[in-house]
Amino acid sequence: LPRKEPPKIHRLDESVVNRIAAGEVIQRPISAVKELVENSLDAGSTSISVTVKDGGLKLIQVSDDGHGIRYEDLPILCERHTTSKLSAFEDLQTIKSMGFRGEALASMTYVGHVTVTTITGGQLHGYRVSYRDGVMEHQPRPCAAVKGTQIMIENLFYNMTARRKTLQNSADDYSKIVDLISRFSIHHTEVSFSCRKHGAARADVHSIATSSRLDAIRSVYGMAVARDVMEVAALDDDPSRSIFKMDGYISNSNYSAKKTVMVLFINDRLVECSALKRAIEVVYAATLPKASKPFIYMSIVLPPEHVDVNVHPTKKEVSLLNQESIIENIQTVVELKLRNCNTSRTFHTQT
Ligand code: ADP
Ligand code: MG
Repeated sequence: LPRKEPPKIHRLDESVVNRIAAGEVIQRPISAVKELVENSLDAGSTSISVTVKDGGLKLIQVSDDGHGIRYEDLPILCERHTTSKLSAFEDLQTIKSMGFRGEALASMTYVGHVTVTTITGGQLHGYRVSYRDGVMEHQPRPCAAVKGTQIMIENLFYNMTARRKTLQNSADDYSKIVDLISRFSIHHTEVSFSCRKHGAARADVHSIATSSRLDAIRSVYGMAVARDVMEVAALDDDPSRSIFKMDGYISNSNYSAKKTVMVLFINDRLVECSALKRAIEVVYAATLPKASKPFIYMSIVLPPEHVDVNVHPTKKEVSLLNQESIIENIQTVVELKLRNCNTSRTFHTQT
């Protein structure tokens, strides 16, 4: 074989680098919705509404009543690595906000057309400005605004032909978005959420801020779920093991479903933990007579330094210190609860 000349190595254009990174942060329309809603939560909103057109490919709009964005910050708002939430790397250990990388908005401007309307407290009018590839397309224009921030993304993945095609051919992302907002609504009961298709009069999720988690579950997942869930809780405060607190609602032996619904928040972040999900499914399969998959809502609180939130660009997976012992502990609690409801059920049918 003829020896090949080694290819020349060169530095990629910043715009290419940014677009590649953006495609990782914003994988689908639902990733954009999640980032926007988390920004609204970080801004202390009490009301968040989501509007979607064409499964998010045509339009995603998230409006909130949070603290808004300062006029002076608008020029750098959508640059990569600009954030109001993190300064030093060490802050990551104790971070309370959902965001911290300052990459979400920037990423959206590399794969879609972003328009921001925002007003801060005490101002007479707001500002509106559009962004492309990280920069403002024009000076912010004064406009009427009520309270908070509205962010609109149009034509998501307009510059990524393959991604757009796959998404157009795949099942509508809208139902995934509805599912996402449902999950947020039962955890953040102090916030009212809505999610609707563009132009639709009726919202597909509509939660009203309430003090009761069970009310939230009823209004979002329906009576059939709310009727058949029971409260669970666990606490481990022995510092020689894993310190953690868990509370939630899990379905009882009357509940029946083909698919597990697991809504999991760890330190208020909506995450997935397949090991925990499987561990709970195992307990259900072993304890309940009929092969029903559970409904689970669980909120786990750990010392922030026991959770690494920085393992994945979408922040979807977190890794936990002492994961095995936490899972074992939760399994025991769930099993006890299930056994009790199982015996009380038999008792009911006998009398
Ligand atoms: P991060 O959330 O990691 O800081 P983002 O790109 O998501 O990065 O947002 C950049 C910054 O824009 C945030 O730090 C915040 O200051 C501001 N911001 C974004 N969305 C909102 C919003 N809905 N309300 C108020 N400020 C916002
Ligand atoms: Mg963010």
